[in-house]
Amino acid sequence: MNELEKRFSTETDCRSYLFFLRWPNGFICPRCGHNKAWEMKDGIFWCMSCSYKASITSGTIFERTRKPLKDWFRVIWWITSQKYGASAKGLQRMLGIGSYETAWTWLHKLRRAMVRQGRDRLAGEIEVDETFIGGEKHGGKRGRGAIGKTLVLIAAQREGKKLGRIRLRCIPNASAETLERGILDAIEPGSVIRTDGWLGYNRLEDLGYTHKIIKTDAVVGDNLLPACNMVTSLLKRWLGGTLQGAVSHEHLDYYLDEYTFRFNRRTSRYRGKLFYRLLQQAVITDGVTYNEIKRGIRGPKPVTYNF
Ligand SMILES: [Zn+2]
Repeated sequence: MNELEKRFSTETDCRSYLFFLRWPNGFICPRCGHNKAWEMKDGIFWCMSCSYKASITSGTIFERTRKPLKDWFRVIWWITSQKYGASAKGLQRMLGIGSYETAWTWLHKLRRAMVRQGRDRLAGEIEVDETFIGGEKHGGKRGRGAIGKTLVLIAAQREGKKLGRIRLRCIPNASAETLERGILDAIEPGSVIRTDGWLGYNRLEDLGYTHKIIKTDAVVGDNLLPACNMVTSLLKRWLGGTLQGAVSHEHLDYYLDEYTFRFNRRTSRYRGKLFYRLLQQAVITDGVTYNEIKRGIRGPKPVTYNF
């Protein structure tokens, strides 16, 4: 933290770092693509060709923020240094800010930058399954039709016997159409996908995957999809522990993003790398307002979630 305060002690320090993340090869006008600009004060760049005034923070999660970038950097550092995740209460304490609402909003803005959905898909050997959050699988159709719980699609990459990276997302149901969309978004075609014998997975071969069905007539209690089972239990422990179950279903997708971000970088030994990664994603993620977050609307992203 001391090192961070030294490195980013002024707004100018923070802005030059954002500049480097956003335009690593030098300024590019967001409107006309020209590469020369006059640098004005407060992080404004005036395009020499079309006179457009580009703000270093426009089109990033820092857009329209009234708080100093220095504070944002501190928060990002703090979040990425929390091994098990960050709660709004913890952030409120760290920042010494009075309002829980502000801390909550900051966290949600940053969660939106944690996973770039639709990019960087998993590849190789992947297990896929669904789980209910807020309840257990039970009832008819093996629980896939239960009411009042949130269904989450899990894709877990296997690297030999070890767990690789994961992707998680809320899904409205376990129909073939829903599952296929989720899988296409999370997994590269050509990969090997293991699932149980649920009918919703029947057409995966048509989508370009190699599909291996793990027989469902095995003895109950067999660990048929060990990677998915492991992820499910870790995720539930995290939701119940760090966040003390205080997750509303409208926002579950964002918590899943945070969990995924941390999980996929769990072996990263340098916290500084997570800090860098989150900032890097923050400058390419559009900003959202408190009201938009409250309504549970995803920031304007390239991939639609309404399926
Ligand atoms: Zn321009």
